[in-house]
Amino acid sequence: MQSRHVISTVEDYEPFIGPQAVERILAKGKQLTGRSVCHVNSTYFGGGVAEILSSMTLLMRALGLDAEWRAIQGPPDFYGITKKMHNALQGAPIRLTDIKKEIYEDVAFQNALRNRFDHDYVVVHDPQPLPLVDFSHKRGPWIWRCHVDMANPSQEIFEYLTGYIEKYDAVISSAVEYRQPWRVPQLVFQPAIDPFSILNRELPEGEVERRLRHYGVPTDLPLVVQVSRFDRWKDPHGVIEAFQMARRKVECTLVLVGNVATDDPEGPQVYESLLGKKEDRVLIMSGEDTSFVNALQRRAAVVMQKSLREGFGLTVSEAMWKRTPVIGGNVGGIRYQIDDGENGFLVSSIEEAADRLVRLLSDEGLRRRMGEAAREKVRQNFLMTRYLEQYLDLMDGFEARYRLRPETLDRLMPEGAGVERHAPH
Ligand code: UDP
Repeated sequence: MQSRHVISTVEDYEPFIGPQAVERILAKGKQLTGRSVCHVNSTYFGGGVAEILSSMTLLMRALGLDAEWRAIQGPPDFYGITKKMHNALQGAPIRLTDIKKEIYEDVAFQNALRNRFDHDYVVVHDPQPLPLVDFSHKRGPWIWRCHVDMANPSQEIFEYLTGYIEKYDAVISSAVEYRQPWRVPQLVFQPAIDPFSILNRELPEGEVERRLRHYGVPTDLPLVVQVSRFDRWKDPHGVIEAFQMARRKVECTLVLVGNVATDDPEGPQVYESLLGKKEDRVLIMSGEDTSFVNALQRRAAVVMQKSLREGFGLTVSEAMWKRTPVIGGNVGGIRYQIDDGENGFLVSSIEEAADRLVRLLSDEGLRRRMGEAAREKVRQNFLMTRYLEQYLDLMDGFEARYRLRPETLDRLMPEGAGVERHAPH
């Protein structure tokens, strides 16, 4: 009997990337058939990393790799500390006390005991599970994949985490400006979206209507939407201010939709700080229903992502894929997605955001042109197959340099990088 449960495959991307790219990726996958890869992060739900991993691990499996995903477990104080570390990597000050370090390291130790990370490749995402490398027996390359905006980390966090980071065999970040003077090969892979997920798949107009009606979103005026975890770096208060300025000139409704990731303890506080701003035309809503988020990104006249720091910002590509123009903060990964004035707008202040909002809301032709250009930008650059292929190339590089001839990578690494290597199998 044929299963009705299907996962998307590289072949499904053919209409978007063409047959040659599909063939090329399949051939690269074949070289790595059966290789085990474990992705490790700190939450199965909420935020871009979980979103990417839910698609990436299945796409790797569809290709024949033995891909797994583990989320580490820790008490609330652990997540309080790691959120401070996340903020510090994005430039906020931090006071790293001995007790904080002890809790952080203990949780990694306990998770290393609880799990076996004996895969051919281990990819550790973000700072939360970073010290795992210290407590696990490496059987193959370990890769640290950092998704945050690390252009200007606080010195204290930088020095502390460097001790762990340099135990990895490679670091991947989302932009060249996030690279740091670490004695580890550093690569840049930008994140990407899954066009077949519930969040991004095509939705018939009737379904969009039904989703919006179900949640009581008024559609009589153009919708301005921001979809984001409730996080201060996403500047939800700035979005409301920009909206209030713009609506003096053009009528519209704002929908701020958000969720709280299980590894982000600051979310509820940010959410509560917004409740006083609710009114008829300012809706603050929960985004746990991804079809609803999909419908909103499609129906919005304009999507905002007015972040103050943003490692990448998947929500930008998600909206652009749906042909919705985005006004994004001129920061981090957003700058690689939006070409200012062509497929959206980049802004550096509330006033600029309000000005671009008025321009877009008063010009349907401009919205349509930018929306089409936005779709094309994502098709060419930000679909999951491109990201997958970068992982395959990286693994292929390790196969040649490390797995078959481990001494070759040793020669490539700078003196004293201190990476302990165990020849696999
Ligand atoms: N998201 C969602 N519902 C919400 C808020 C966010 O489904 O209420 C999704 C959003 O569509 C995106 C991801 O969560 O896929 C957030 O990723 P992004 O890279 O934009 O930001 P992060 O949360 O990782 O900083």
